[in-house]
Amino acid sequence: MKCFACKAEIQDYSSICPQCGKDPQPNPYEVPKVGVAKPAGNPSEGDATGGIIPYKNPKALIAYYLGIFSGLPFIGFFLAVPAVVLGIMGLRDRNRNPAIKGSIHAGIGIGCGTIFTLLWGSLIIVFIISALMGRL
Ligand SMILES: [Zn+2]
Repeated sequence: MKCFACKAEIQDYSSICPQCGKDPQPNPYEVPKVGVAKPAGNPSEGDATGGIIPYKNPKALIAYYLGIFSGLPFIGFFLAVPAVVLGIMGLRDRNRNPAIKGSIHAGIGIGCGTIFTLLWGSLIIVFIISALMGRL
């Protein structure tokens, strides 16, 4: 028979090849192992899912939803501030580990959060000032 590893002609049923010292029999566990490892280690698959929704970056994901819902009146102010904070935290996590993605979601969270923090914040200030003016 031929050695599976080095293709040297060797005695049948040898457990160790005299030429290369490896197992001359083809390892039945080696073939499925490679087949399973290939799709799991495929980086493009992880990019596809990670690029649309950054499941591995929950801070950026939460910041994104908080940023969107911070447009709601009254409760928006209380969502806008954590949207900015979580967005910055999500961006930091992404910079530490770019594979987790989420920079777009974090950016939307920070952008919307900043706009609505200023909007609702200034409305609250205007409301307080007008209340004080009315009292004086
Ligand atoms: Zn061999």
